[in-house]
Amino acid sequence: MAHSIILPGSTIGVLGSGQLGRMFAIAARRMGYRVHTFSPDSDTPTGQVADVEITASYEDLEAVRDFARHVDVITFEFENVPAATAEAAAAFAPVRPDGSVLHTTQNRAREKTFLQKHGFPVTPFALIRRAADLMGIWNRFTPKAVLKTAGFGYDGKGQRIVHSLSEAQNAFTELKNQECVLEAFVDYACEFSVIVARGVDGTVADFGVIRNDHVHHILDVSLSPAGLPPKHTKAAIEIARGIMQKLDVVGLLCVEFFLTKSGPVVNELAPRTHNSGHLTSDACITSQFEQQLRAVCGLPLGSTAYVKPAAMVNLLGDLWAKGEPRWAVALKDPDIKLHLYGKAEARAGRKMGHLTALAATPAAARVKALAARHALLR
Ligand code: AMP
Repeated sequence: MAHSIILPGSTIGVLGSGQLGRMFAIAARRMGYRVHTFSPDSDTPTGQVADVEITASYEDLEAVRDFARHVDVITFEFENVPAATAEAAAAFAPVRPDGSVLHTTQNRAREKTFLQKHGFPVTPFALIRRAADLMGIWNRFTPKAVLKTAGFGYDGKGQRIVHSLSEAQNAFTELKNQECVLEAFVDYACEFSVIVARGVDGTVADFGVIRNDHVHHILDVSLSPAGLPPKHTKAAIEIARGIMQKLDVVGLLCVEFFLTKSGPVVNELAPRTHNSGHLTSDACITSQFEQQLRAVCGLPLGSTAYVKPAAMVNLLGDLWAKGEPRWAVALKDPDIKLHLYGKAEARAGRKMGHLTALAATPAAARVKALAARHALLR
């Protein structure tokens, strides 16, 4: 079926208003598009650079319809919008990726069940609907497991590491008896992600394997190329592309993996741009944000080739503890690129920005990025 192309000059609607939407909006405006953003907040990272910022609840379906009437296509930077929101919007503009992708990926239980059903490697897991469910299955998970809420979890929120049946039961109560997934604790060698774009015509492009190090469950450093053994790189890319096709995503999908002794295992999916892909803005011919734009507009995808190896380090609000970070000192290294998200309040753990370093090798880029972040401290 022929699809019409949404050309520069058209208006893109973004559901969500954080830093992912901000960097998307910058890419879209650079290519001559207009951007409207919709979220419950105001003066947002996305709103500051968008043409129009709508502040309304995702449940306000009249406001959602009005937003959709004024745009040519709708995409996401935040996937936890209610299914009814995506449905209401879809009556007036194409929503890409569509609501069914959100439905699967915004709930760990559905996501893992989907992956397992289609034969993709996932961490062993069990669905926990009530505390009693833990009793029958704990023996399969002993001595250590991770209990995660099925809905609305990110950056390690809504999860607990548990070492016994009674700890798991207490954790379930602490998580307010919400539906959960109990996962085997994976003894992984490293974590990495593959970001894949898929166009309206089914064309697929990936950004290769990006290695990710987390601190306190929050992404700290990303490196690319990741330097994984070629057989694991090949397997991971095949898995990510396979998931993209099976989910029928138009837009972007980030697949997060653990590298285990038996190869890559999927941890979770995000049907949007991802923190681990921020380095593509400086390191690749086409950034993940421009690629999302091209995909949802029906344009040909851009080259994902790396101009240079790169490392990204996140800048969390903690860096502001003793006052404004020393930007000029960090930028003395001319290979450091600074990205700030326009957030007024620097709370501990809040993602305020990132630094990217380009160098001859990923290891050298990492050293540079960490040194620059250290130089920010007062
Ligand atoms: P998630 O919110 O599922 O991405 O989890 C956040 C982080 O917790 C991951 O990036 C891992 O560092 C850690 N983690 C999550 N699940 C597991 C697991 N099953 N085994 C070991 N570590 C885990």
